[in-house]
Amino acid sequence: LFISFEGIDGVGKSTQIDLLTKHLDELGRNYVQTLEPGGTELGVEIRHLLLHRKGEVAPRAEALLYAADRAHHVATMVRPALESGTDVVMDRYLDSSVAYQGAGRDLDASQIRDLSLFAVEGLLPHLTILLDLEASAALARRSKTGAEPDRLEREKTDFFETVRQGYLKLAAAEPDRFFIVDARQNVDEMAALIRARVDALIAQ
Ligand code: C5P
Repeated sequence: LFISFEGIDGVGKSTQIDLLTKHLDELGRNYVQTLEPGGTELGVEIRHLLLHRKGEVAPRAEALLYAADRAHHVATMVRPALESGTDVVMDRYLDSSVAYQGAGRDLDASQIRDLSLFAVEGLLPHLTILLDLEASAALARRSKTGAEPDRLEREKTDFFETVRQGYLKLAAAEPDRFFIVDARQNVDEMAALIRARVDALIAQ
């Protein structure tokens, strides 16, 4: 099984990923938990370029750096894991690029999708869990965690709301792959919904 988690910053992805992997532990499934950008050694370097380098990166260069991270991650880690029967639980995947670099930065969303599919040789998750929350509410939560504040300063509510709408459009286009979870619910309610959806997928 290949499961990705998506959503704008501050929706609570990490918490839900931890709770789902606990559930997979209880079920006795083999899995790897990984993330984008930065799931490999090369990816950590690319993540640093993307998130901590001073100065703007041209939007197309940024999109290509995310694609490079993803290509290497899939080729060296994700695909081999899936081929050996190991589940992969991923914090962000190609939908992040379509939503952030496509919707959020005014690049053509379908070109970003094509670029991403080229990078991963067409590999899509079986299930993509989209945690959905209004940008203003998500940002308020995010600032409490204090994560990556330099990045946060540059990202504003409007940007995240555009990204959120980009995600919702993607989910509407692929309703079978996407499972939208209303992130206004509390942690346990969300976790229960996600567990039930994953259990149904495992039972298929
Ligand atoms: O999910 P995580 O906190 O690791 O993401 C790091 C940062 O990278 C976030 O601020 C997110 O908005 C951004 N990002 C992005 N485009 C992507 C993936 C992540 O702008 N494709």
